[in-house]
Amino acid sequence: MTIRRYHFIIFICLFFIIYPLTKVYESKISFSSADFYLKSRNYRQVALTFDDGPHKDFTKAIVDILNKYNVKATFFLVGKQVEKYPELVKYICQNSDSKIANHTYSHKNLTLLSPLQIESELLATQELLYNISTSSDKVINYFRPPGGHFCTKVVSVAERLGYKIVLWSIFTNDHQRNVTKRDILQKIRSSTNGNEEIVLLHSGSNVTLECLPEIIEFFKNNGYKFVTVDEILEDETDNGVGLWQ
Ligand SMILES: [Zn+2]
Repeated sequence: MTIRRYHFIIFICLFFIIYPLTKVYESKISFSSADFYLKSRNYRQVALTFDDGPHKDFTKAIVDILNKYNVKATFFLVGKQVEKYPELVKYICQNSDSKIANHTYSHKNLTLLSPLQIESELLATQELLYNISTSSDKVINYFRPPGGHFCTKVVSVAERLGYKIVLWSIFTNDHQRNVTKRDILQKIRSSTNGNEEIVLLHSGSNVTLECLPEIIEFFKNNGYKFVTVDEILEDETDNGVGLWQ
């Protein structure tokens, strides 16, 4: 098996030990303190990810655009939002091949919480996702820490609960005020350089919705297949311990 250095910002907590990292990542990072490997593929894959939803104004429209282009994505959902808009979680599950994943219950900086609080943030959302989703196959045991903030304490709780932490390889900046469609597309074009990319997007942004068709077309035109984060990381998750297995 050919392997290569995997320099994405992806951390599979069940397999590696890393040092505390508590900053928000704005670009690709090479972890000098840990080795990241991914099975090399001879084809390209991209996982679009949408954080912070479900959002009352945008989630349904995002799913509809994904369907129009016959592609799938991963939605990192916030428990509080899931409670408010369960019908939108159902809409994702029933109307697309996309997956849903955990983005904590209240979107706090987890590095400032106790292990018990971190656990509660994850479990509360986990329960909601499994209760509301139409099929447990739609929920994956991955979570993305809010703001990309995590440390060994967060990693330890995630590992205990059978979660894998996923960040991103392309930071689009789409949640920033005054960001334009042109800015986002330019950031994606200039940041795309690998056979596997995980793109961070947000559910609550009109500009994200506006440029989503062009983002999809860009990756399609460059030969990328659209997958969910569990699929892009499938080689690393074979030994994962899921609470819901
Ligand atoms: Zn977030």
